[in-house]
Amino acid sequence: MTEPKILCMFSGGVDSTGVLHELLTSEKYKSYSLIIHHIHIWNRENRAMAELSAVKSILNYYKKEATFVFSQSTFDTRGFAVLKSNRFPMDMDVCAFTASQICAARPDVKYVAMGRTKTDVQSGGENFQKRMQRAQAIYKASLSLEQQKPAEYIFPVVDYTKKEIWDFLPTEVRNATWWCRRPIYEENSAKPCGKCITCKEMKTFEDV
Ligand SMILES: [Zn+2]
Repeated sequence: MTEPKILCMFSGGVDSTGVLHELLTSEKYKSYSLIIHHIHIWNRENRAMAELSAVKSILNYYKKEATFVFSQSTFDTRGFAVLKSNRFPMDMDVCAFTASQICAARPDVKYVAMGRTKTDVQSGGENFQKRMQRAQAIYKASLSLEQQKPAEYIFPVVDYTKKEIWDFLPTEVRNATWWCRRPIYEENSAKPCGKCITCKEMKTFEDV
């Protein structure tokens, strides 16, 4: 476990797929091996199944040319329904906490790669910054009793807009990504709703 690792928190969405692609193809990250982690996030948006299918297809593509460790976990707040509230934990926070626990389990992880993009920074505003800071605070707090310095967050696609990421992804990978927050399931396949915030964003440049 001495070889330094990068932990890639991978959702199957466009941004984290961009991160994965960078980590696997850029010279910059060549000396690191990769732990890819996918969290099955079950909540009222019901996105977990669509995401998992994207994750599987994308990893199948990269598996042909790269080796990595793939791990998974589940976070389920569907039981919150009885609370009759619209609130449920944010993906970013769940992701930060899970990443901290993987780093605690694997001290050879030197960096945690997250999918922040130029689009997030430019259009996310103050709200996005505050959410990002909170997620990082969760990450740091839950590693505060560890002996060693926590692995650092890195943002391999922060210089790219979502559109630029979409453009550099191989077609097969791009077509397998999932972005809709509230998928519509028909038989065994999921369709984007066309109305949520990410569907609207994707419509501005998507060519399918
Ligand atoms: Zn949608």
